[in-house]
Amino acid sequence: MSLNALVLFSGGQDSATCLAWALERFDHVETIGFDYGQRHRVELECRGKVLEAIRSEFPRWGARLGEDRVIDLSVIKAISDTALTSDKAIEMQKNGLPNTFVPGRNLLFFSVASTVAYRRGIKHIVGGMCETDYSGYPDCRDDTLKALQVALNLGMESRFVIETPLMWLDKAATWAMAEVLGGQRLVEIIKQETHSCYLGNRETRHEWGYGCGTCPACELRLRGYQSYRVSPGISP
Ligand code: ZN
Repeated sequence: MSLNALVLFSGGQDSATCLAWALERFDHVETIGFDYGQRHRVELECRGKVLEAIRSEFPRWGARLGEDRVIDLSVIKAISDTALTSDKAIEMQKNGLPNTFVPGRNLLFFSVASTVAYRRGIKHIVGGMCETDYSGYPDCRDDTLKALQVALNLGMESRFVIETPLMWLDKAATWAMAEVLGGQRLVEIIKQETHSCYLGNRETRHEWGYGCGTCPACELRLRGYQSYRVSPGISP
């Protein structure tokens, strides 16, 4: 039986690494992205470039790549008030969460992805969520996603498996994982073509990729890259 997967692919570092992880393991891999009015909408343009680079530099993986789709979830921007979906300063809220937290985002992403997976007969749904080295978003936690897996399976009479290969890795180990999966060629694709910066900055190129260099997403990416460079031997 051939194994298939649907990867939540935003165009960022984490989901690009997950895509490589899935392409190494599954015979057929489809991708899904979401346009939710994110301030860093430029990440959606990066998606195509990453897919193109994977196809040209990793033909074995390219042969496994299936359909890609971007779903319009602009309703998220319409009904929420966050620094990720509007032009406001990034700051900490009273509840201890940064205002870049988009309530329900990952819950909705997985629900929509499972609707697609249901139609496509796909069992494994892969996401780059991580609770080791993260912004504290509660919908990135392992328990949240395990509970969601149960809810989706009950609600759709299915047997989906939510895969989160980065859940227990820090950001340095995520860089190391990309290297193990696809060598420096993949690390270069991730640096050059993926996007993490919340402010959507694609003008400034650092050693670790593009970004403003100071927003929380850039800080995480930078710190992870620095410690990966110090001890690149971390095995995923
Ligand atoms: Zn930034």
